Formats: sequence, C-alpha cells, structure tokens
Amino acid sequence: MPNTIQTNKSPQTLWISVAVFLLITIAGCSDNQPSLQGDRDIKADTINVLATTGMVADLIRKVGGSQVDVTQLMGSGVDPHLYKPNRDDIQSILDSDIVFYSGYHLEGKMTSTLNQLASQKRVIAIAEHINEDQLIQDQQGQVDPHLWMDIELWSKLLPPIAEELIKISPDHATEFRDNALEAVDELQQLHKFGIDAISTIPESKRVLITSHDAFQYFGRAYQIEVAGIQGLSTESEAGLQRINELVDMIASRQISAIFVESSVPAKNIDSLIEGASARSHQVKIGGELYSDAMGDVSSEQGTYIGMMAHNLKTVVQSLGGTVEPFLPDDPSTK
Ligand SMILES: [Zn+2]
Repeated sequence: MPNTIQTNKSPQTLWISVAVFLLITIAGCSDNQPSLQGDRDIKADTINVLATTGMVADLIRKVGGSQVDVTQLMGSGVDPHLYKPNRDDIQSILDSDIVFYSGYHLEGKMTSTLNQLASQKRVIAIAEHINEDQLIQDQQGQVDPHLWMDIELWSKLLPPIAEELIKISPDHATEFRDNALEAVDELQQLHKFGIDAISTIPESKRVLITSHDAFQYFGRAYQIEVAGIQGLSTESEAGLQRINELVDMIASRQISAIFVESSVPAKNIDSLIEGASARSHQVKIGGELYSDAMGDVSSEQGTYIGMMAHNLKTVVQSLGGTVEPFLPDDPSTK
C-alpha cells in the first residue's frame, strides 16, 4: 500500500506539486504505450522499473533478471532521508511501468510526490509487505524504516516483488517466481553467516555505535547492542545531550571502535572520538558502513549482498571477532 504520511507544505514541496501536476498533464494517458520519450528508447519487451534506493533496486534486478530495466534514483552515498526529487526524476517516474520505493517514510522528502503519482501508475512501498509484528517502532510510534539491515526480513520482499512484476508481465511468471526463490536462498545463507560472524565478537565488546539509528534491525537479527547519535532519520540534529550520553558509554565501557556511515557526514562521530579522548579513552573509527545507500556500482559493495557482507566483516573485525570472507572474490574481505 502506498504510504499516506502527510508532510507540511514547504515552498519546495509546493514547487514539486506543481511540477508533478504539469508533468502528469503533459504525459497524458500514454503510460502503457511503448514510446520514445526524450533520448530514451523504452523497449517494448522489458518492464521499465523505477526504484528509489539501491537496496530496493537490487532485489528487483534479482527477481526481474533480463526482463526488467531498472532505473535507480539514489546512487552511492546518497541519503534517502534528505533526497528531494528533481524534474528529471519525476519524468523518470512517469516513464516507468511501475515504481518501487522502500517506504515507512525512509524517502521522507519524496512522500508527497509519490502519493501524487500513485494516481497515475503502480507505486509500491515494498517494505510495507513485511508483517507488522516484525516492525520496530520508536517511542513516538514511528516505524523504523531500515528493514534491509535484517537480511532474512529483507528477503521476504522477493516473492511480493515477483507477484507485482507478474501483474505486468504474466508470461514470465515462472521465471520471476524461480528467481525470487533462488535469491531468498542466497540471502538466507548470508543471514546465517551474519549470525555466526557476530557471535565471534567477545560479548563485552558487542556494541555497535553509528551516526544514526539505522542498525536496530541489524542489532535484533545478529544479537549486537546498537546505539546511534541521530534518530531514525538524519533530518533530526544530534543533540549535545545525546553526544554526552554516548561519550559516557564509550569511556565507561572502554569501547574500542565506532563506525561512520557512507551516506552521513562524519562530524558527529568525530565529536564522540574527541569527547572520549578528553576522558583519556582512545576510541578509533572501526570503518565505514553502508547504512542507507549501497557502494559504488563498480564495487563489491554496490550490491545488497556485497554491502551487507562488508558491513558484517567490518563490524566483526573492528570489534575483535573473526570472520571468513562470505564472497570468495570480495577484495575487501581478504
Ligand atoms: Zn537512515
């Protein structure tokens, strides 16, 4: 079901509303017609999919294989909480046959655009297919949107993606369902690898401190305590009180490593290091984790499996555990 969270109308939002209205009007009723739009030759025999984040796009590529042409809006290092769609993005959405986004307000600044476009085409908040009893909520009742951090949970989205693609291309039903099952298997293996890997960290050191609260599902799935400086969204500023709480925690528990995130500036992490140092405790950066965006497409971390294998390896090695490479050809795990 499309997300229906309403946001206050800022000038930016109003501008987007007008742009969406105009583009929808210009696009008219040509959605399902194979056509040339701009320089882009839209092939009649593949499904044109628009996905917001890499983690969503990767699942669709796995299920759709050669039958889908996936346009991914947010690349490496892009923070989905802060991403604002531009005119080209809206045109890409209109050019697509179906739109998949993550949901639960992850793409906070795209919500009203997606809601408006939902009247024109299939717009799917795919993470909302996860059973409600699996969701983590904050104290205000807001659902934590970082569901991909539990690999097993994220794998549950593969079959619903297959069913959505089948609605558009029923001739490929068997292929989509088979691909989905194969991908579920692969992710189950990585999930089991993750449980084993994290369990090698000495229990007293099993604490993961990062820039924002992106790792709560990770913590629940792999049995590691987690703490973030910012909350569920990077839109909220880090408070001095929170920084001080975490400095206390790092110094009193002699935590040896904390982690930066590839899509969030490191300044708050630097504050923790300086704060700990002022209390005569040296804490280092354990490495860079991919929280809300995958790595560069040309790198191993540019796939969902590569991203999560990297995160697991980095956390385990930096906190004193031992880990074998999950991906045999992953240069970062050698
Ligand atoms: Zn986040």
